[in-house]
Formats: sequence, C-alpha cells, structure tokens
Amino acid sequence: MSKVRHVLGISGGKDSAALAIYMKDHYPHLDIEYYTCDTGKELEETYQLITNLEIYLGKKITLLRAAEGSNEDPFEHYLKLYGGYIPSSTARWCTKKLKLEPFERFVGDEPVISYVGIRGDEDREGYISKKTTIQSIFPFRKNIWSEDVINKVLSNSNSSQVISLYESLEKKKLKSHFLDLLKHPITPNFTQTQKLNLLLDTSISEFNAIVFAYLKTTNYPLANEENFELIDNEEVLVRADIFRILEESGVGVPAYYKEIGFEVNDKKGTYARSRSGCYFCFFQQKIEWVWLYEQHPDRYSKAMEYEKDGFTWNQDETLADLIKPKRILFIKEDNMKRKANKISRTKSPYLIDILEDSEEDGCASCFI
Ligand code: SF4
Repeated sequence: MSKVRHVLGISGGKDSAALAIYMKDHYPHLDIEYYTCDTGKELEETYQLITNLEIYLGKKITLLRAAEGSNEDPFEHYLKLYGGYIPSSTARWCTKKLKLEPFERFVGDEPVISYVGIRGDEDREGYISKKTTIQSIFPFRKNIWSEDVINKVLSNSNSSQVISLYESLEKKKLKSHFLDLLKHPITPNFTQTQKLNLLLDTSISEFNAIVFAYLKTTNYPLANEENFELIDNEEVLVRADIFRILEESGVGVPAYYKEIGFEVNDKKGTYARSRSGCYFCFFQQKIEWVWLYEQHPDRYSKAMEYEKDGFTWNQDETLADLIKPKRILFIKEDNMKRKANKISRTKSPYLIDILEDSEEDGCASCFI
C-alpha cells in the first residue's frame, strides 16, 4: 500500500480557513499538510489570515508560488508571457498557471486526499483534478464524495457489486429500506440525485461505508487507507457555522468580509468584499470594485494600470468609467435595491443569510 498524503488548500477565503480549523479540531490524528497558492496579488487581509491560521494549527502553511526563480511575482511573470492579455472568465489562465499547476507540482504523483471547504448549503462541485492520484473530499457537505465517485457507486452497471459490498459490511445496521433503495435502478423517473439524497437521508454513515468499501476495489487514493474516519461524520455545515468557527477559534473572519457603511441620498447602505483572491479579480461584482476603489485606492489604481491596449477587467466598462461619481452612485443605489429585494424574498431574519448573494459565482480554486 502506498502512503497517502492528506492536503488542504487555504485560498484566503473563509470556508477553507474554517475547514482547516474544523479538521484540526475533529481529526487531530490526520497528518494534514496545509498549503496556499500565492499569486502575488492578494490583499493584506489574506496574509494576515494565513498567519493567524498558522498559529492556531501549530503548523506551517506551505506557500506555493508559480514561476519560482522569476524575479517578478507570479502574476506579473505570466502576464508578460501572455503578452499583457489580462485574464477573464473565458480566458482564465490565472487559475491554471498560478493555482492549479503549482498545486499539482506540490502533490507530485503520490496518492493524495485533498479536503475542500464547499459548504452544505452550496450547490456546486469543487475542482476535480484530472490526475487520478488526487481525490477530493468535502467534509462540510452531507455528500462528502466527488461527483465522479458517486457516478461510479450509483451506476446501474455497478449495482450488483455495490449491493454485495453492502451485504458484506460488518458494521451495517441493514435497514431493509436502505437495501431496497440501493437495489432500485436509476431511471428517467428515479434520477441519480434522487437516489443519492434518499440514501443519505436514510443513513449518511452507512452510505459512506459502502462508498469506502467500493473505493477499496479501485485505484482511488482512498483504496490505500485502512480506515477513513470521515465516513462516520454526519455533520453538515452551512454559512453561519463557518463564521462561528472562525470567531470561536480566535482566527477571526478576514477583515474584507466585514460590512462597511456608506450613505447615498440620505439612505444608508453597506458593502464588503464577498470573496478572497486577487484584488483585481474579474469575478467580483461592481459594488466590490467600488469597495476596492474607496477602501484600497492604491490597489484600484494598480488594477487600472493593467487596462491597456483594449484589455479591461470588465467586459462592459473600464475601471476609469466605473469610478465616475454618477456611476458610483448608481452602483451603490442598485446594490441597496437588490439587497432590499432579497431581504423581502428571504424567510431568514439573519443578515448573514441575506448578504453576499452572488458569492457562489466564480472560481472554485480561488474562493473556497
Ligand atoms: S482570484 Fe480571480 S484573478 Fe486571481 S487567480 Fe483566481 S480567478 Fe484569477
């Protein structure tokens, strides 16, 4: 059996930071290696978070930098190589060059379990590496497994193998309902998602035990592990839990998530940054650009400097246009209206569930 490495990437966002704390508190026996990919263009608050986490974890967080040996920072180095072509959602060379490639170099070809902080209240899949030696696990979700694993475990063609694995499990409680569900084939009227949810609703730990037994028959990294403590984890963590973990641990919520007040035409509003990552990230909302301009004007000016030869961060306007006084007023008012609409639509009385309505848009490698 090969030795399996357990790794956890710190993006600078709240969810991966909370996951690092959660894993240390709940699974202290797992020897997790923590890493972060530094683009050279993060806000100070991100570096502060890394320092606070290192103190809490009692471990160094390995700093991965693309273009090692270059005398420029990783982003500048690759920007030159790409002829000044700034990245965008359709030409996202930054994630590939500055985050994914350094990560894949770091883990090499050994079997690796990578823990990812996608929450139980999010409906998205994380980055799944094309390298078969890397397996992603999502401890905050009810379904801790990646999509490719679920596709295999629940496929009709693997059904008889999975059923006999279940029947041979030692610790199973053998609920007949569970077995009936397992035997039920996937059809247009009974989808894979329905089957998965029903199985998890019946017993998360029993479902996880089958998946683990199945993985032992494959080449997935977990096949090399005798036991895997997380199969008994039935906790599902949502957004409010993340803030609680960060506050209670003393690590703290990165300062850029804190809402700052502003006033427009005698009305009070608030803004904050909803994501980690590079200060000029093209995934940010217009109100976040205004936040950057007003809270970090030096960074905004630097972001403006990259806009030349027709390259812009936003498709529809330049950063110079975005900060014209009338435009700023419009963006702030529009944001206030959208928040007010959301408040009237949401049933939750908690501000935490109302704010940051589009934080899920963007890059799974950069904002978790
Ligand atoms: S944070 Fe945005 S700009 Fe930076 S690497 Fe990620 S996607 Fe690219």
